[in-house]
Amino acid sequence: MAEERTYIMVKPDGVERGLVGEIIKRFESKGYKLVALQLLPTSRELLNEHYCDLKDKSFFGKLINYMLSGPVVGMVWEGKDIVKTGRRLLGETDPLKSAPGTIRGDYCIDVGKNLCHGSDSVESAQREISLWFPNGVLSWERHNVHKLIYE
Ligand code: GDP
Ligand code: MG
Repeated sequence: MAEERTYIMVKPDGVERGLVGEIIKRFESKGYKLVALQLLPTSRELLNEHYCDLKDKSFFGKLINYMLSGPVVGMVWEGKDIVKTGRRLLGETDPLKSAPGTIRGDYCIDVGKNLCHGSDSVESAQREISLWFPNGVLSWERHNVHKLIYE
């Protein structure tokens, strides 16, 4: 069976604050495998598609402007139960409700500046990965490390 994948994105505030490395580190040291990574400016078209289920929310315009304020770092991570566990590593949508030890719990305060995105289901992950990485992601094996992480 193919390994589960999720789309994790460092938002413009995270990139500008120099937290890309810290966010990558959380996923790397947990044991997950990086299969795609890019720094890119976002566009209204990509964001409208990415956040299509939030179009009717009152904060939608604010969210799009926030996301257009600078480049983002998009990543695809792979591993057991990565979608759910990835969201737990990020913390709650509202950083003030996020436990210390999570990324949002440790590094931010307001929901409109919450540093990072993580797919909320396996289906959303597939949709987001093909949206942000239309040319696909890498398949590669960690020959030695895999057996130190999985039983
Ligand atoms: P997520 O999956 O945890 O990122 O949360 P959602 O999918 O519900 O919302 C997407 C993003 O919209 C969040 O990460 C926030 O950046 C932003 N957002 C959500 N709720 C609010 C809100 O009430 N006010 C503002 N300003 N932004 C919000
Ligand atoms: Mg979401």
